[in-house]
Amino acid sequence: MFKIKSMKIDFFDAHTHIQFAAYDKDRELVINRALREGVGMVTVGTKKETSRAAVEIAEKFESVWAAIGLHPIHSHKSPPDAQESGNVGKMPPNAEETLDYDFYKNLALNPKTVAIGECGLDYFRIKNNQLEIREKQKAVFIKQIELAYEVKKPLMIHCRDAFRDLIEILSAHKNLLNSPAGIAHFFSGTKEEAKKLLDLGFYFTFGSTITFPFKKDKHFDYGELVWFIPLDRILSETDAPYVAPVPYRGTRNEPAYIIHIVRKLAEIKNISVFEMQDKILENARHIFPTIFR
Ligand SMILES: [Zn+2]
Repeated sequence: MFKIKSMKIDFFDAHTHIQFAAYDKDRELVINRALREGVGMVTVGTKKETSRAAVEIAEKFESVWAAIGLHPIHSHKSPPDAQESGNVGKMPPNAEETLDYDFYKNLALNPKTVAIGECGLDYFRIKNNQLEIREKQKAVFIKQIELAYEVKKPLMIHCRDAFRDLIEILSAHKNLLNSPAGIAHFFSGTKEEAKKLLDLGFYFTFGSTITFPFKKDKHFDYGELVWFIPLDRILSETDAPYVAPVPYRGTRNEPAYIIHIVRKLAEIKNISVFEMQDKILENARHIFPTIFR
């Protein structure tokens, strides 16, 4: 397989998972398709195996960088995810992983690693009464805040149905947040929660769901939220292989589709696509200074 070097970056996918099993058959083709479109990307780890793989791919492709960390759902037992690890039929549930600080620190120090995560809290997939699981998620998250502070790299945050606890933890560890503090990926909180995260120094990434038609009561009103977040705090993401944007909805997502998200962001912000691209790259430069050096 050939490798494209020294690509010019026109678009930026700040959160993708190109190392996941979903791309085992055609990974290099998918990456090269994105690189040809001028898409730079951060491929994000979710546990030991996918974090190590993220760094390996980042080392291979000039316009690919890595985020490494332990996703909240992997801090306890969870159902297997075919997109992430493949071959679900034969697979046992994902094992619980405790945060191996030295393992992650070693990956964090790699020059191609630009963020710690995805880390955070996810109460969407657990039951209300699973307090013990919540505590595990919180402990693993706090360790990663400490790691981000130690290696001076921003956090890549995943949060679902847990913004109150997330903001409480971040505020309590304010002295350990870098500047900028990180990215709240696929943000789905309220404007009030967004305001608090803005004040703590976070940026926001939006993905495919903003391209879906908005139906009252059915979908979250991303338009209103994107409008609320200042232009100098917004980045684009695909979160590929999950949730492809219109017009590819329902198929496997990939970083080359980022243009559709940038277009929608530009439309909501009422600026040209070109200005939006520029703004995203400028924001990426602030949060990931080593990328554009
Ligand atoms: Zn993700």
